[in-house]
Amino acid sequence: PGYTSVDEAKAVAARAYELDRKHVFHSWAAQGSFKPMVVTAAEGSYVWDGNGDKLLDFSSQLVNTNIGHQHPKVVQAIVEQAQRITTIAPHHVNDQRSEAARLISERTPGDLNQVFFTNSGAEAVEHAIRMARVHTGRNKVLSRYRSYHGATALAINVTGDPRRWANDRGTEGAVHFFGPFLYRSAFHSTNEAEEEQRALEHLEQVIELEGPATIAALILETVPGGPGIIPPPPGYLRGVRELCTKHGIVMIADEVMCGFGRTGRWFAIDEFDTVPDLLTFAKGVNSGYVPLGGVAIAPHIAATFNDRPYPGGLTYSGHPLACAAAVATINAMSDDGVVDNARIIGETVIEPALREMAQRHSSVGDLRGRGVFWAVELVENQSTKAPLAPYAGTSQAMVEMMAECKRLGMLPLMVSNRIHIAPPCTITADEAREGLEILDQVLKIADSYAT
Ligand code: PMP
Repeated sequence: PGYTSVDEAKAVAARAYELDRKHVFHSWAAQGSFKPMVVTAAEGSYVWDGNGDKLLDFSSQLVNTNIGHQHPKVVQAIVEQAQRITTIAPHHVNDQRSEAARLISERTPGDLNQVFFTNSGAEAVEHAIRMARVHTGRNKVLSRYRSYHGATALAINVTGDPRRWANDRGTEGAVHFFGPFLYRSAFHSTNEAEEEQRALEHLEQVIELEGPATIAALILETVPGGPGIIPPPPGYLRGVRELCTKHGIVMIADEVMCGFGRTGRWFAIDEFDTVPDLLTFAKGVNSGYVPLGGVAIAPHIAATFNDRPYPGGLTYSGHPLACAAAVATINAMSDDGVVDNARIIGETVIEPALREMAQRHSSVGDLRGRGVFWAVELVENQSTKAPLAPYAGTSQAMVEMMAECKRLGMLPLMVSNRIHIAPPCTITADEAREGLEILDQVLKIADSYAT
């Protein structure tokens, strides 16, 4: 799509690749050996690579195209907005920003009714922590091992202007704790209830030993995504909420990856009957068509900044193109029942197929997920649980599987020893089956490395 011929698309791809390897510095990559894939076009659940081959996008790029690629209503909204007004300063009002904030407030849990817009997930996290620090007057931030919250380093610390500083100078203050993860339990638990209780006891001890009066915030991904799609036991988040309330700690739910339909609910936290004080989002809010992130804010935190200015801001906060894309995305998701689709596809197609595959493949150690958000954890040996690739690394088996997936026409995310399956929330049952059949083939490679 978008080219007059396959040859034209191939020529564009070849030139793009050449220039990329000369001039583009890539995220997370060893630049010298990196061989990125060219993507020339996309539509719905599919992308086309530089050879003109069509691939089922089981990755939603970086788990962001929740509404699928090139959704006509979202594209149209961006075009119409570009013709009306493309940029405004953050201190002016724009109808798309106002409407996006309303639509988000209506969907976020409880009383999270004000929205601060950023351009990315990391910035949302930065600002959520900043709000919590000013609100509490405390500095430490608790977060979990096996979590991902973005790649900026509390950027305000390098800012050289005291008017812009709050009580958060210095990069110290991050304290890690263990979250629940039954398959690789830090607490040697043998069942979910035990894991839940032990993880909460552990967190309570960390809070006590760090000193509750020094802790501004606790940030956690509702369903950790990048670290392995690890849904928590049913009462864990309620327990975390109680501990935060008891000790005056601001609870931040990071829903950058798991929010906006991904788990088959508007927000993953909806399943757990818990309302955080702040909720960070990005990616799915507008499917990443234009960069956008943000923080949904509870009234008692927002009230801190009623009479004193909030010490933070961004030139592009609530950018009209990004917000127009968000309005169109959220409306289309509502109108088309996209969130329910993600839940139904998860329950009726993905989960049963994966469970059935796990019976047949000796390399499958664990399966976890919700909606259109699943991880297949691969091991060399099901008893020892020795991973098929090292933590934060890769292996020959994973590299071979990625190549085979692409050869067979499917693009998953490979993260350490896991295959992450995260297609658009709009995926059809037939498309999901097509991808799962490819996965079934590819797991034979993993089996050949397992004992
Ligand atoms: N938080 C979570 C939970 C994420 O998954 C990510 C991105 N994968 C981020 C924050 C950072 O988002 P961004 O890359 O847009 O800065």
